[in-house]
Amino acid sequence: MFEKVLIANRGEIALRVHRACREMGIRTVAVHSTADADAMHVRLADESVCIGPPSATASYLNIPAIISAAEITDADAIHPGYGFLSENANFAEIIAEHGITFIGPTAEHIRLMGDKVQAKAAAKAAGLPVVPGSDGAVTTDADAMAIATAIGFPIMVKAAAGGGGRGMKVARTKDDLANALAMARREAKAAFNDDAVYLERFLAHPRHIEIQIIADSHGNVVHLGERDCSLQRRHQKVLEESPSPALNRGERDRLGERVATAIRKLGYLGVGTVEFLYEGGEFYFIEMNTRLQVEHPVTEMITGIDLVREQIRVASGASLSFAQRDVTFEGHAIECRITAENPKNFAPTPGKVRDYHAPGGLGVRVDSALYAGYAVPPYYDSLISKLIVHGSSRNECLMRLRRALEEYVIGGIQTTVPLHLELIGNADFVNGTYDIHWLDRFIAQPTR
Ligand code: ADP
Repeated sequence: MFEKVLIANRGEIALRVHRACREMGIRTVAVHSTADADAMHVRLADESVCIGPPSATASYLNIPAIISAAEITDADAIHPGYGFLSENANFAEIIAEHGITFIGPTAEHIRLMGDKVQAKAAAKAAGLPVVPGSDGAVTTDADAMAIATAIGFPIMVKAAAGGGGRGMKVARTKDDLANALAMARREAKAAFNDDAVYLERFLAHPRHIEIQIIADSHGNVVHLGERDCSLQRRHQKVLEESPSPALNRGERDRLGERVATAIRKLGYLGVGTVEFLYEGGEFYFIEMNTRLQVEHPVTEMITGIDLVREQIRVASGASLSFAQRDVTFEGHAIECRITAENPKNFAPTPGKVRDYHAPGGLGVRVDSALYAGYAVPPYYDSLISKLIVHGSSRNECLMRLRRALEEYVIGGIQTTVPLHLELIGNADFVNGTYDIHWLDRFIAQPTR
């Protein structure tokens, strides 16, 4: 097992990883930008190293600075969290060359799944159903038109290097296609420095259902059920739950088994999430994330499994501490992503948190690095807290979630707590009859 892990991240996820290490008797090294000198993960870690100025490019994405920090502190592994360098295959390779373990899959698997065109082909070859679309990237507009006409409109143009909902455009009809291609290419070039795009049938009312898997280096692969992440604003998840109100137990088990079989074929190592759109009783693979996800606590709450602990264990070469038959799903869990944003127009609201009181009680978990007096910096993602609630049924979970949201005090800045209260009081949400487009429509209502 590792003796010292460097956590190459910030905020709640740095704290989450620190907690798992601490419970495993592993020492931790925090790295931070000058803007994060007072951050909670820096305060709690055994050691800390400043790696650069506020801009993420100069700090949390600064590979030489992170490697130097690992070398000076003699860390034997690096946990990348999510975002930043977590899906950077070069980073995984470089640190391996320095004799440091990357807590994640191999560089080869990160690279494969990072290219969504290749990822789709690999998923199809491993036996997973995919969204009908172009076989590979489209080059000319004329080719794209021929393929789009064969698939049928509406069409979604997606960036091969995509992530975070960027580089995605819908063409409702033939007339929109050239424009959608140009816009998606431009956005993809700006965000990923790669303007390759591909086409998919645009699904009108799907749900986003994803399967959590974990694999060790001894050929064991286990799935930990699904998460429903259909509540999205501009293709970004806002609230996640498990089990999905749209699936029954049999559907979940069949999909999970199918995914575990595919992952075994790929020879994958570590935690990963295989994402699907679900419409008309059919699942369609869209992508695989080769890292820990923001919404992993939802799965932890219903399975009782510490995913980060298992992730660290399998990275060190240990076998999974449980088999598929040991995994049971108890009750219902929901996670609300709380951001430092205006709950009406989503303008960022960085600034000083004057009062802070986190909710508690049975079944309530708060993953956050906030404290009274902390100033939310303007440089990074606006996620400041994840409130995760567990109940024996969805109904109990919802009642508890309302109570916990009402109890939450984050004074001094505006947050999206009021949005979550609105959402969980809405009949469509309570009935579980929402799809991936529901939230954008809800937010656009003039009466809100
Ligand atoms: P990213 O990597 O940018 O997150 P994904 O491929 O995971 O991109 O898609 C993000 C979201 O975009 C999905 O959860 C879904 O809401 C929407 N989406 C993706 N593909 C389609 C599609 N073919 N039809 C309709 N919506 C889609």
